[in-house]
Amino acid sequence: MEVLKQRILQEGVVMSDQVLKLDGLLNHQIDPALTMEMGREFAARFRESGVTRVITVESSGIPVAFAAAHELGVPLVFARRKKTLLADPDAYCERVPSFTKGIVTDIMVSREYIHENDRILFIDDIIANGDAARGVIKIIERSGAELVGFGVVVEKCFQAGARTIREQGIPVEALVRIRSLNDGTVQFDDNEM
Ligand code: 5GP
Repeated sequence: MEVLKQRILQEGVVMSDQVLKLDGLLNHQIDPALTMEMGREFAARFRESGVTRVITVESSGIPVAFAAAHELGVPLVFARRKKTLLADPDAYCERVPSFTKGIVTDIMVSREYIHENDRILFIDDIIANGDAARGVIKIIERSGAELVGFGVVVEKCFQAGARTIREQGIPVEALVRIRSLNDGTVQFDDNEM
């Protein structure tokens, strides 16, 4: 998605060879018009998949997942980051390491909002090693619903997350693929996937 590449070049800050700060676009400030455009792009890529629900993880996945869900005319469910140690028999829970915070968090989705006859599109902001995505995928699998695809705004191709998910046979669509952040510069991978 060309407009997104330009915005990343203008507003992204390369923090290290591994981490790109995107606070101005995804993780702190949101551009509503750009976000709706990203939602339209995901909707176009998955329109034929019979999506009945979009799922994401709070908090940075929510705006773009909302935009995609709105465009597809289906509800959006976001996995909550759990702040209690109490077991909840009415929810699916998974423990996921956080790439940027260096801590482990538990994510949960109520059984009320994900059903075995659902066809789910999972949308997220950025994929690195794929731990967060694997947690969500496990929850979808446990619910018996079908995961029709995974749409991610930014795929960092030099980390293994998206590749391992594709290897599981799940269709993965990235709006922008980053090949490298070496030497303080963003190098895009132009092989659209
Ligand atoms: P993963 O679980 O795939 O290793 O990391 C995914 C999550 O960590 C993303 O949802 C995102 O919030 C955060 N993250 C991973 N890499 C980056 C990065 O380079 N920049 C930013 N801003 N967030 C990242």
